[in-house]
Amino acid sequence: MGSTWSAAEATAEDAEAPARPPPLKDGASYECLVIGAGPAGLQAAYFLRKFGVTYALVEAAHGPGSFFETYPRGRRLISINKTHFPDLGALSPEERAEFALRHDWNSLLSDERAPLMGAFSAAYYPHADDLVRYLAAYADAHRLEPRYGHRATRVEAAAGGGFSAALETPDGPATVRATLVFVAAGLGAAAPVGDWRWRAAATVDYGDLPDDLSVFAGNRTESDRRFRGNPLRIPQKSRSAVASNSFPAVS
Ligand SMILES: Cc1cc2nc3c(=O)[nH]c(=O)nc-3n(C[C@H](O)[C@H](O)[C@H](O)COP(=O)(O)OP(=O)(O)OC[C@H]3O[C@@H](n4cnc5c(N)ncnc54)[C@H](O)[C@@H]3O)c2cc1C
Repeated sequence: MGSTWSAAEATAEDAEAPARPPPLKDGASYECLVIGAGPAGLQAAYFLRKFGVTYALVEAAHGPGSFFETYPRGRRLISINKTHFPDLGALSPEERAEFALRHDWNSLLSDERAPLMGAFSAAYYPHADDLVRYLAAYADAHRLEPRYGHRATRVEAAAGGGFSAALETPDGPATVRATLVFVAAGLGAAAPVGDWRWRAAATVDYGDLPDDLSVFAGNRTESDRRFRGNPLRIPQKSRSAVASNSFPAVS
């Protein structure tokens, strides 16, 4: 290792081609169902696999990290990518790598410390597309076997314990059982787990906001309204589709 530590040194370039799991079979049973293959779902799957927990990782989109295919709309991440560090003297290589990881806001954790985001972008504020590529490489390197094109539509307590989850899969509808369900569905979390009425009253979904920034000119934020008594004037598309959806809450 040279005088600067580089995240690019710790990648999983030699990983074999990833195994692509078959669609989930109707009636399959797992210890854990993970919904969503964004950063949270991938990280959860890594540790479930590491600890030998049987799981299925389902993702509605065609690949991991789909949030970052669209957002941030400016396409520059706000999470920094600190890949190079000066020689910190007293630190051992192990301590130095640990220190570097703590200042790397994009890479996921793994015992192997690989792959790391620094191998996919050298930019301090990377392009969001690079994070999508990184997340795909992480899923492949650790053989997390996400099932893409699998959308969870409903989660409910199952008779006899655990949960039952209804899925739309490329091969048609399926229902799977799981002792635990880890909902890592980001903005989509309302769909499978149901009643978010409490939230709908006070928020505007980021995905509902227009691209035309001029509509914000002169407008005030929710916190402004609270502190100054001014009306909330940001464009507010109705959340009634979510507020009145018929999905039951997890019970
Ligand atoms: C405008 C904006 C900008 C942001 N910029 C950054 C940034 O630069 N850097 C950063 O670190 N964080 C950023 N964040 C925060 C970012 O959203 C989170 O860090 C990250 O996306 C959270 O990961 P997650 O896995 O929890 O959710 P997500 O990344 O949202 O992943 C959820 C996944 O679940 C899938 N899914 C949803 N519903 C279902 C379903 N029913 N069945 C199956 N799959 C489903 C989705 O397709 C998606 O892939 C930003 C957030 C916003 C709102």
